Amino acid sequence: MKRIRIHTFGCKVNQFESASFHSGFESLGHDIVSSDMETDVVVINTCSVTAKAGVQSRQAVRKALRNNPHAKIVITGCYSQMAAEELAAMDELQNRAVAIIGNSDKHLLVETALQDNSELTLLHTPIDSVKEISHLPIRHFSNRTRAYLRIQDGCNAFCTYCIVPFTRGRSRSLAVADVLQQAKIFAEEGYKEIVITGIHVGYYGADLDGNEDISTIMEKLCRMTPSIRYRLSSIEPLEISGKLLEVMAQNNNFMPHLHIPLQSGADDILLRMNRRYTTGRFAEILDACRSKIEDIAIGIDILAGFPGETEDLFSQTYSFLKELDFTYLHVFPYSRRPGTPAADFSNQIAKDIKDARVAKLRRLSDDKKNSYYRRFLGSSRPLLVENSRDNTGRLKGFTDNYIPVVFEGEDILKNSLLQVKLETAEHTALHGTIIPDTYER
Ligand code: SF4
Repeated sequence: MKRIRIHTFGCKVNQFESASFHSGFESLGHDIVSSDMETDVVVINTCSVTAKAGVQSRQAVRKALRNNPHAKIVITGCYSQMAAEELAAMDELQNRAVAIIGNSDKHLLVETALQDNSELTLLHTPIDSVKEISHLPIRHFSNRTRAYLRIQDGCNAFCTYCIVPFTRGRSRSLAVADVLQQAKIFAEEGYKEIVITGIHVGYYGADLDGNEDISTIMEKLCRMTPSIRYRLSSIEPLEISGKLLEVMAQNNNFMPHLHIPLQSGADDILLRMNRRYTTGRFAEILDACRSKIEDIAIGIDILAGFPGETEDLFSQTYSFLKELDFTYLHVFPYSRRPGTPAADFSNQIAKDIKDARVAKLRRLSDDKKNSYYRRFLGSSRPLLVENSRDNTGRLKGFTDNYIPVVFEGEDILKNSLLQVKLETAEHTALHGTIIPDTYER
């Protein structure tokens, strides 16, 4: 029996994949241990979406080598896909038991990690030649209230700032039967909410036989397990079809919440990002979402400081967002990724300017969020109680439309669905009370 530790960086897709390693090791009788315990194997699932994520991934590799002189170190994820040779040449890796496993070889990770060899193993298939999604079955996510189900991998869009198509390859979809089977397993394991994830979920089904797409798979999931809440993690604006909104409207277990990348509120920047819509089209799509789904929560991704974003273009983004009706923003500073077209664009923006723009947009996000939350004071909403309490000891949870709520209650309510009355606004959440006799386990 071996003791294994898994470190995960980056997105929900990486978290899903790490959970599958966890399940794989446990099913073979090995132990997953926390960071202060001695280990035989350390797995580092890296990210490279920003320059900072790449630096953090390298630091984690160095730290793991230093702190675990006798352990085998397994490096996987987007950074290992992108920089396998660079990693393999690191001085610290020489004469150590190390495996570097690219994204398309992750299905071989558990068996490779358990092999007793002392030399470097390199599994690195060129990602653009990969046609199949790796099948990574999972039983549970440790300590998480909701499960992530990765139904798709890769991207064909090649936005000019993004490294993802180079680290995850072209779009591939998980077969319908495998998606449904994985959701059934999560339901059997007691999960009440499943978040449907992928790198570009709107491409779902394009590479499968038949007429599957994101709306048909969501409909099948919602109907197969009506007691499970489904949430979509993120979807590109042009892929929000009338059919998808209809499926959301007709299935009350498809949560009224969409997270939509906009990236810039200036058409000139959108064009240079290779985003295929204008701000006008984006506003129309949001109108359609709000008119079909009452009370829908809409989150938006924004990149601040893209090359050539002048003060005037940034003001256009700010004004566009100020007028738009949405719930919250996820704001990221643009990060220059070598190998992408935008890395070579002129007029790169200085860090202090990017930081100021990010801060300004985050303040706008707080204002929008607060006014959206306050709209629901006095009403009641369905809520899933999280497995952990907040730092003042109260229970917490998210409503169907993604409002964080804190409230008093017993531990037995954790991981249950109930109705909560929303009463007062706190700094980053609403305070509520449980409506008696509404909870189901
Ligand atoms: S849609 Fe654009 S930003 Fe999103 S993963 Fe694909 S290339 Fe990257």
